[in-house]
Amino acid sequence: MATKRFTAAIDQGTTSTRFFIFDDKGEPVAKHQEEFKQLYPHAGWIEHDPSVLVASARSCIDQATAKFLELGHKPEDIAAIGITNQRETSIVWDSRTGKALHNAIVWCDSRTTHHVRHFKTKTGADTILQRTGLPLSTYPSAVKVKWILDHCKPARDAYDEGHLAFGTVDSWLLYNLAVGPDGEKLHVTDVTNASRTQLMNIDTLEFDASLLSFFELDKLLLPRLAPSADDSAYGAIADGPLKGVRVTGCLGDQSAALVGQKAFKEGMAKNTYGTGCFMLYNTGNKPVISTNGLLTTIAFQWKDQKPVYALEGSIAVAGSAVKFLRDNLGIIKEAHEIGPLAAKVPDSGGVVFVTAFGGLFAPYWIDDAQGTIFGITHYTTREHICRATVEATCFQTKAIIDAMEKDSGIKLQTLAVDGGMSNSDECMQLQADIIGINVDRPAIRETTALGAAIAAGFGAAVWHSFDDLKGVNARNHRSFTTKTTQEQQDRRFNRWEKAVEMSKGWLTTE
Ligand code: ADP
Repeated sequence: MATKRFTAAIDQGTTSTRFFIFDDKGEPVAKHQEEFKQLYPHAGWIEHDPSVLVASARSCIDQATAKFLELGHKPEDIAAIGITNQRETSIVWDSRTGKALHNAIVWCDSRTTHHVRHFKTKTGADTILQRTGLPLSTYPSAVKVKWILDHCKPARDAYDEGHLAFGTVDSWLLYNLAVGPDGEKLHVTDVTNASRTQLMNIDTLEFDASLLSFFELDKLLLPRLAPSADDSAYGAIADGPLKGVRVTGCLGDQSAALVGQKAFKEGMAKNTYGTGCFMLYNTGNKPVISTNGLLTTIAFQWKDQKPVYALEGSIAVAGSAVKFLRDNLGIIKEAHEIGPLAAKVPDSGGVVFVTAFGGLFAPYWIDDAQGTIFGITHYTTREHICRATVEATCFQTKAIIDAMEKDSGIKLQTLAVDGGMSNSDECMQLQADIIGINVDRPAIRETTALGAAIAAGFGAAVWHSFDDLKGVNARNHRSFTTKTTQEQQDRRFNRWEKAVEMSKGWLTTE
């Protein structure tokens, strides 16, 4: 590595924002994290205040940099910054004023169910999966923006006048925190984030006029598209203690976690247990369109290189179900209690919790399912509910692995894990027991931020090849070995699938 030994990353997640400064081994030397408010205006709706997202990023940069300076380092020691972010979450602003015209609609918000039904009946609906890698659902950005146009007059007016800018959270942060070489505002995104809008063609890596037309968004001002590691696309930080430090990496959070796990080769996979849970399986330079309920997404693209694609299994509810037990039901006080409680009982006592709080994502894609607990008896205790909550994510992960094996024809050998819930040994043991495949957890679980820093390092020519990363995040991996028989795995999984079937059609249409 050159004289600048550090790379940094803004990690703007669903529940918190973080800023990390990493050394050349991928060890965080300074960090700061802030949770921010989730807005739930109606059942199934989730919003973030766009100005809060920017303020939290600024604050995290300030606090982490102060710690970094206290250690005797200088801002100039940071070679470059990467950005990673919650994907699909959509923000629109007036391009003349820079003011957001609606709260951000968060990726797992399910208000667009009716819009999705409308789009499913349109001519061309049957080509959308093939062209974008994503099925029509409430999840991608396009349908969220369409909802805003239909319900927010200022946004509609700006759109009609040709001044409505759209961006995922990376674009919004770059617009507010960075400037181009001449001090100009930037409206840019990377291909991994763009692949989640449903407006980008997955083969050409360009926004597609016919997709804009399909979603009735022809006049939307879209960001410029750039590779995930690029020395000139993302400008430099505009002000604050890191003013002038270049931004040279940008990745959607799940792509960043794949990079942070160094799953660079075809056939490697990772599963990130955050608010939701997302498995990405590297399929190399060719997009594989799933016939088994998975998504096709861009894993990453370095400047002047071919894109690397991934198959993705997205689970909407994982850590957020743990939060639900804590905040809504009050049966745990802290998230970390759930693993030990779940492990106190030998099984869930017949309880199955289908955590379909806003429909069920991969590989099922049931938009009218709602969260349902089956099998409650007088015998049921909070330990059983805790176990069934953890198992819900683990069973859905198994369904995704099965789908990936069908699509790729290759059996997964090891599952690399990270994210908040992977901190729990008990949860990861349950996962290994349910899938019958070993689970591998690195010492550094902040792989999302690390991945963005790695992209920035490639963009700034700190690293040149994947071999340069041999020493990064290499120490103290822990392996969880499956302790169940095939017969036990099959029996439990069959009961889960039956429960999924029974959770269908619960969402009423009025
Ligand atoms: P995000 O980046 O989506 O905001 P994180 O990766 O920070 O999410 O993970 C946070 C989630 O992980 C929370 O929803 C929390 O409930 C869950 N979580 C954190 N620690 C644990 C733990 N020890 N056991 C189980 N769940 C946990």
